[in-house]
Amino acid sequence: MKAELSTEVGEDVTASTAGGCRFCGARLEHVFVDLGMSPLCESYVSAKQLNQMEPFYPLRVYVCERCFLVQLEAYVTREQIFTEYAYFSSFSDSWLEHARAYAELMITRFGLDSQSQVLEVASNDGYLLQYFVKSGIPSIGIEPAANVARAAVERGVPTRVEFFGLESARSMAATRLSADLLVGNNVLAQVPDINDFVAGLGAALKPHGVITMEFPHLMRLVAENQFDTIYHEHFSYFSLITVEKILAAHSLTIFDVEELPTHGGSLRIYARHANDLLRPIEERLIALRTREEEAGFTRLEMYQGFAESVQETKRKLLDFLIQAKRQGRSIVGYGAPGKGNTLLNYCGIRTDFLDYTVDRNPYKQGKALPGTHIPICAPEKIRETRPDYVLILPWNLKDEIMKQNAYILEWGGRFVVPIPELRVFD
Ligand SMILES: [Zn+2]
Repeated sequence: MKAELSTEVGEDVTASTAGGCRFCGARLEHVFVDLGMSPLCESYVSAKQLNQMEPFYPLRVYVCERCFLVQLEAYVTREQIFTEYAYFSSFSDSWLEHARAYAELMITRFGLDSQSQVLEVASNDGYLLQYFVKSGIPSIGIEPAANVARAAVERGVPTRVEFFGLESARSMAATRLSADLLVGNNVLAQVPDINDFVAGLGAALKPHGVITMEFPHLMRLVAENQFDTIYHEHFSYFSLITVEKILAAHSLTIFDVEELPTHGGSLRIYARHANDLLRPIEERLIALRTREEEAGFTRLEMYQGFAESVQETKRKLLDFLIQAKRQGRSIVGYGAPGKGNTLLNYCGIRTDFLDYTVDRNPYKQGKALPGTHIPICAPEKIRETRPDYVLILPWNLKDEIMKQNAYILEWGGRFVVPIPELRVFD
């Protein structure tokens, strides 16, 4: 216990400052990875903010030795994250296709029709529920950001403006509103009180209803070194094994799982009430659980090995950038995603290495990246300045980006991808 050895008045700064595990309450003593101090990754900096102070928060991730939930302290409130949300899901074509295919699959598999009720938590601008509405299936979204909910209502998706939890589930149940299909995509990681949220899922589900949730898979994060997908807005990082434990604590059972390519590798879990025996446990659920056990996700040592591979990735990226600059090469970024901000802040990469980055989202153009203050330009800037290297920050979209921007080869430009490990494309 380092804190007890400290002889000075005041606390030892190397001691754990975290509270209890968000799920099981055990004391958090083991660091999974420490990415230092970082600004909120969606806080893009406008020209008039450039000379002002910017808040930085620790990006130190813990693993619970009892339930193996990988987690950050909630430095930001859910109101800060959700209430004025700049990101509208419908911006991306591939994301819409993902949603359409999901709706079709659920309607067929679970026989949904005009008598069924679909509920979606964190339903955003209705990008997903619109496909159920088009098929004549009663659907209601629950979305805390009022401006985003308004966009959903405009496209015909009824939406309640509120945070989801046990209280809101109970008030819906009191009006006989409960779900045959209850959807929660990319929301579980952003819930500060995970027990209240999962209890709410149980309360909002009909006796034979099905919950599906998608979230980035911790096994992929570890295997592919995706430390840049860690940011303050994501409080929790899940293995299948840990999610099963969390749901089981609220009498919910996962009966099936799919592995998806989205967000660098996600899981889609299917859950039901524990006492609903109509749906048997599928083989592929058991198989994935076994793979996680074999990969070490129930042993603390596996989690403790991650930090070293993160540090090695930083050293390799900096090696490359330093050499390229010594040779007089110019380097720019492509994209301004949240994950880019984690990477650049952790590695200390500013305009000393990257002249600028570009992004197709007009909301981000003309602003600067949080922390590093690298300017964000429109993509045409690359053609004007003809850089030697283009560092792709949203590496999960690298194939699409390299195809769309293949013209950089005209002047001998090359693409660089930092994750899972540094790679220069010739
Ligand atoms: Zn725990």
